[in-house]
Amino acid sequence: MGAYMSKKEVTEAKPTAAVTNMPTSCVAEGCKAKSTRLNFCVEHFEWFKEGLVTKTGQRPKDFDKKYINFLKKKAA
Ligand SMILES: [Zn+2]
Repeated sequence: MGAYMSKKEVTEAKPTAAVTNMPTSCVAEGCKAKSTRLNFCVEHFEWFKEGLVTKTGQRPKDFDKKYINFLKKKAA
């Protein structure tokens, strides 16, 4: 009987490995901030919405142009 009990305890003590496919830090290049939404930190989630960074954290080819527009929009 005791064996059954200890087996159950081991199963429950297992860490939740199912969530390891979710990175806990921002995926944007060079960013070490904690991710809050869609694997981005607050700042880079905004970038993602503006098309300044892809969902994998890469910069688009026309990043410079988009970034200038983004800054203009923010300043407005
Ligand atoms: Zn970030």
